[in-house]
Amino acid sequence: MRRAVARSLGAAAILAATVAAFKGVAIVIPVEGLKASDLVDSWSKSRAGGRVHRAIDIQAPLGTPVLAAMDGRIEKLFASKRGGLTIYQRSADGRLILYYAHLQGYRRGLAEGQEVERGQVIATVGASGNADPAFPHLHFQILETVPGSGWQDGEPVNPYPLLTGRRALP
Ligand SMILES: [Zn+2]
Repeated sequence: MRRAVARSLGAAAILAATVAAFKGVAIVIPVEGLKASDLVDSWSKSRAGGRVHRAIDIQAPLGTPVLAAMDGRIEKLFASKRGGLTIYQRSADGRLILYYAHLQGYRRGLAEGQEVERGQVIATVGASGNADPAFPHLHFQILETVPGSGWQDGEPVNPYPLLTGRRALP
């Protein structure tokens, strides 16, 4: 059953060149065609309302494929005022929640509960929610969870050093 679902999503686009690991879990840059050197550390940047950015913004043209960063399961498809069209994915080992926001659209057939493979197309880059329409990007967050936690719970971890193998900015 699991196989059939994966196949119905089409051939997995395992194109991402950079594969790093976070606590033993393989991770790829979640936007097709980008290299580590294309990424900018946008962790800790200030945002409106005194909020602090606990994620990475990955700039890419509208419609660029968004890839599952890790193997796992689609936990929640959700639309919010700030995040726009979003996806919450749980890692295969259950310890992490991956959050993808400002999406243009979901991959056709994508649904909650589906298993996804690292590198598989799950959505397209957009500027939905409070994103600047002139700056389409993927807002990508990694949350460390505790057992039994909900799909929105967790402690953010900076994705930048994980995706690039570099040290984060202080
Ligand atoms: Zn962001």
